[in-house]
Amino acid sequence: MSGSTSKSAELLAHARTVTPGGVNSPVRAFRAVGGTPRFIREAKGPWLTDVDGNRYVDLICSWGPMILGHAHPDVMAAVQDAASRGFSFGTPSENEVALATEIVRRVEPVEQVRLVSSGTEATMSAIRLARGATGRSKIVKFAGCYHGHVDALLAAAGSGVATFALPDTAGVPKSSAGETIVLPYNDVSALEAAFAEHGDEIAAVITEASPGNMGVVPPAPGFTKALRDITTKHGALLVSDEVMTGFRCSGAGWFGHEGQQGESAPDLFTFGKVMGGGFPAAAFGGRADLMGMLAPDGPVYQAGTLAGNPVATAAGLATLQGCTDEVYAHLDSTAHAIADAASAELTKAGVPHTVQWASSMFSIFFRDGAVTNYDDAKDQDTEAFSRFFNAMLDQGVHLPPSAYESWFVSASHDDEAVAHVIDALPAAARAAA
Ligand code: PLP
Repeated sequence: MSGSTSKSAELLAHARTVTPGGVNSPVRAFRAVGGTPRFIREAKGPWLTDVDGNRYVDLICSWGPMILGHAHPDVMAAVQDAASRGFSFGTPSENEVALATEIVRRVEPVEQVRLVSSGTEATMSAIRLARGATGRSKIVKFAGCYHGHVDALLAAAGSGVATFALPDTAGVPKSSAGETIVLPYNDVSALEAAFAEHGDEIAAVITEASPGNMGVVPPAPGFTKALRDITTKHGALLVSDEVMTGFRCSGAGWFGHEGQQGESAPDLFTFGKVMGGGFPAAAFGGRADLMGMLAPDGPVYQAGTLAGNPVATAAGLATLQGCTDEVYAHLDSTAHAIADAASAELTKAGVPHTVQWASSMFSIFFRDGAVTNYDDAKDQDTEAFSRFFNAMLDQGVHLPPSAYESWFVSASHDDEAVAHVIDALPAAARAAA
């Protein structure tokens, strides 16, 4: 059982006086699950240690980036080496070229990338580029997909917006939200109807390559292809947001996993999380003719003081180089060991649930029946999830503190860590019942 959490509670109380809600990203506040968010002092491999000295097996993995585990020696060496030569130059440097080359090598339709510092910047810049390239202004997104806190993309967004059941966020002007058409995920007829009405005004459809921000809801067979066909027919671009799935679902992300090829490839991609190895690095990329429309060669402006930061890009490159076929096989078997055991215990305890997958990303919906869109995802017993979450936490397993998130494992989740998770499941399943 986890011990005292008094130091975390003290830190939270103080943090609340200097930071809204005491946190720098809303879902960390534990509002949906109750209790005290743990302030983590250090992390190594699959383990987090909080300021009170409690240890947890980490199934958040920083919401995706820590695919090799915390403080991986190769990434540490790359970071130390880069940092020893300076932190930021504001000029071109070698590591950013190496990281861009690695991304282009892995994701076949991506001929060029521009590096940025967060997934939000990547999607914001990709839709600006799509608007610049097409001369159109409307964007189609899907309910339950989260693309960062970009004004135009916050409509019916997943992740923290779903967790807190927020309306289309305050502070987003109507003029911005009015250019966004929100459609139900996995619904080809809704897409066809939107294009029939607005086809010549739509600059792009942006979609999570395989959504993970309403929980894991993979595209139904043929849905990704339909997105491609309809956008092509109407002269709109297809933007595949691989911030979460990129380099996690396979060496080439969801693109590599689902196997879209040639003409069915998206026009633009966005990446983040894994490609920064835990540091702020993200990217958007695609065909050279499109990317060439960016400044300095083209008219679409986009820039960043810390973009391509030498330390962040060193971490990202070392992380990608560590993502071997063996690592992906390990992620798959580890995720299945945990999810299968969780499902067996929930069944034993009589708790309705459904496990859904996108390669090694999975989530457990506390409801019966498949989840194909955001309405389905919302139709689950989030109270049961909260009880499950807190019982796992008490036993030293840190799940994402929301029923609308994917669980993540890493290359460092070894037999000991998996056994620790599996041992905690029976009591958590009983608590959820
Ligand atoms: N796109 C997707 C699919 C994401 O999951 C996220 C973050 O969770 C983002 C974009 C935004 O990335 P960031 O939080 O780095 O701004």
